[in-house]
Parts: sequence; C-alpha cells; structure tokens
Amino acid sequence: MNIILDASAIINGIPINLIKGRLITSPNVIDEIGKRANVIPIERVEQRIPKERFIEKVKKEILKTRDTLSKTDIEIIALALEFKGEIATDDYGIQNIAKKIGINFIPVGEVGIKKVFEWEWYCPACFRKYKGPGICEVCGTKLKRRVKKS
Ligand SMILES: [Zn+2]
Repeated sequence: MNIILDASAIINGIPINLIKGRLITSPNVIDEIGKRANVIPIERVEQRIPKERFIEKVKKEILKTRDTLSKTDIEIIALALEFKGEIATDDYGIQNIAKKIGINFIPVGEVGIKKVFEWEWYCPACFRKYKGPGICEVCGTKLKRRVKKS
C-alpha cells in the first residue's frame, strides 16, 4: 500500500504494520519538518511533487467546503490521488477533504473525524459570522474557525 505522509505523520510515526509500504511525501513537508525530531527516517520517505491536474482537483474540492489548507496540505492530498494512496495525518482540514474525495486516511495521534463538515469563521469578540478567514469588519478582531453546524 502507498502511504502519503504529512509532517505530523513523519514526526509522530504511523502504525507499525504500515511502515513496510511505500512511503511518499512532498518536498515541502520535508522543509516544514526542518530540524525537528522525527520518528520516521527521512531517507525512508520518497519525495514527489504531485502533477498539476491532481492539485487542481483538490483545489476544486476545497472551494466547495471552504477549508483553508496550505499549499503543502494540498500537495499531500494530490499525491494521495496520484498514487492511489492513503494519507497519514492528524490535520482535520486534510482529513475533511480526503474524506470528501474518497481517499482513506490514517489518523496520527488523535482520533480522526467521522464525517465531512464545513467551516465557518466567527469573531470571538462580537460573535458575527463570516464565510472566510480575516478580520472582523465591525470590531477588527482576528476571526476564528469552527465547524459549521448543519
Ligand atoms: Zn467583531
């Protein structure tokens, strides 16, 4: 099986029965880890840059759920599409999109999310709701993200 690893998976490790598989990540993940201690040796992980068409597919899904994912997060999901792999991550944003696209994920550290959700942003000071990240138009407080109740 192909396992796509994000930084959290390389730092914290993955279930031991999976470690024999092909381990893949994006070069940006390796950059993110930098000098931090990691459980999975970097030499053990293949570094691949995902093809553009897979990145585009992931971006389309992100627009639908209004997730805010980093460039690296998007690459991880794109690699899972390209290599038909599963994603090892503790990032709820990645898990959310993966689930939506039909990619399996292996939760690292925490228990994974059970269903797909949408985000909403709100002002922690005056509680106004917003559709995206930024600053509250009324009081200037930095907006926070939470799961939107459907
Ligand atoms: Zn406000």
